[in-house]
Amino acid sequence: MKNIAVKLAPEQYEENFAELHPAFTKNQATAEANRCLFCFDSPCMNACPTHIDIATFIKKIATGNVRGSAKTILESNWIALTCAKACPVDELCEGACVYNERGEKPIEIGRLQRYAIDRYFEQGMPKLFTPAPRNGRSVGIVGGGPSGLACAAELALLGYEVTVYEGKATAGGLDTWGIAPYKMRFQDSLNEIKLVESFGVTIKTNTKVGRDVSLADLERRHHALFLGVGLGQSPDLRIPGEDLTGVVDALDFIERVTTRKWSAVDVGKRVAVIGAGNTAIDAVTEAKRLGAEQVMIIYRRSAQEMSAYDFEFELAKSDSVQFHFLTAPTRIIGNGAVEALECIRMTLGAPDAKGKKTPKPVPGSEFTLPVDMVIKAIGQKTSDAFLSQISALKMENGKVAVNPVTHQSSNPKYFAGGDCINGGKEVVNAAADGKRAARGIDAYLSSR
Ligand SMILES: Cc1cc2nc3c(=O)[nH]c(=O)nc-3n(C[C@H](O)[C@H](O)[C@H](O)COP(=O)(O)OP(=O)(O)OC[C@H]3O[C@@H](n4cnc5c(N)ncnc54)[C@H](O)[C@@H]3O)c2cc1C
Repeated sequence: MKNIAVKLAPEQYEENFAELHPAFTKNQATAEANRCLFCFDSPCMNACPTHIDIATFIKKIATGNVRGSAKTILESNWIALTCAKACPVDELCEGACVYNERGEKPIEIGRLQRYAIDRYFEQGMPKLFTPAPRNGRSVGIVGGGPSGLACAAELALLGYEVTVYEGKATAGGLDTWGIAPYKMRFQDSLNEIKLVESFGVTIKTNTKVGRDVSLADLERRHHALFLGVGLGQSPDLRIPGEDLTGVVDALDFIERVTTRKWSAVDVGKRVAVIGAGNTAIDAVTEAKRLGAEQVMIIYRRSAQEMSAYDFEFELAKSDSVQFHFLTAPTRIIGNGAVEALECIRMTLGAPDAKGKKTPKPVPGSEFTLPVDMVIKAIGQKTSDAFLSQISALKMENGKVAVNPVTHQSSNPKYFAGGDCINGGKEVVNAAADGKRAARGIDAYLSSR
């Protein structure tokens, strides 16, 4: 990259990446827990895909039983720390809190959950759960992200011998390699992995199924398999100049940022991020926090069609991100490295099959933005190359098709959950899927 941004002082990086929602002190947690109305119909619990018994865990914090509170949370969700820190709570539990109806601040459920689970890990994970005796059945989990880990934990407690096959050097999936460092720490994800391992689960890292071990091998070794492979890379933009130095995939960029070796991550002075989903917002705010002077989002539709959550949009605006709506990139210009991005103005036509208005270029409206880095964040797709190797595996709209209750796929030996079945939602959905699939696998293998 020609114009690498000025590197920042170590303390400046720490300040820029400081947690958005810091931990509660004991007094703050107790006071907040005592605000809870413990509603009989718990709308917050219904709004959580893992259906944590929120009123009970909050009551336990209020009465000083913090370990019991952690147990209540973990009984429903094995990925509870990540969810506490990274869930879009405004859209889920806190959004459903009855205080909203009274125009008052909802209970800070995410921070209370974090309080209980942080204490649990700080205390060295005192034993709360005992795996059932081994039942002689073995399950292989492909992918060690939140869906795979949740499935593995649940099955191990039910007495199964469980092996997780993870292609990367560290498990955790996007919890380890994707979620913004101002939301959660790398170590948080490592703690969750340790908890799952403490139930007797074997995690084989650096083991990509289809490359280091074959699917046929796994089918021979295990009585059932769970697919928690997530999604692949962002597709190419398919415009000239994509091979220039300084054009990067959002996930590659974000992965380097999550390792917290910030001074080692190259970032341009003027960065354009293509796309307007949550990944694009993470990439643009992380580029800003690394020291980029000018950061912008290029999106071919308008603000109304953006898939990013409102609070992510607000965060980006507070980071001085410039939004170029109704704008599409047509060419990346440079001599070896990125120097500018040529764009064209767009207008919106009739809605497409998904109900999103179709963008159309405005002839002759091309213009050029001087930039030295382009980050591609136009959405991810499932890894067809891998999934197509599984015999009789039915896909629907690019996602693995499963029974919504058991998570069994069209190939009865395979179950699936997380992003590869929902096309990319949240960690909490992956955690819920993994747990439900474990129950489905248990029913299948017990012939119930
Ligand atoms: C940049 C970004 C930021 C996000 N931020 C948030 C957030 O703040 N809050 C939130 O709730 N959600 C967030 N999400 C969404 C969330 O991370 C995902 O929904 C969730 O991680 C999906 O879990 P998963 O287990 O399905 O897949 P993943 O987390 O993608 O895990 C899949 C795992 O499978 C492994 N794998 C794939 N193929 C193979 C193979 N053939 N062999 C072995 N291993 C394989 C991968 O290496 C990976 O570890 C974010 C997503 C992205 C992309």
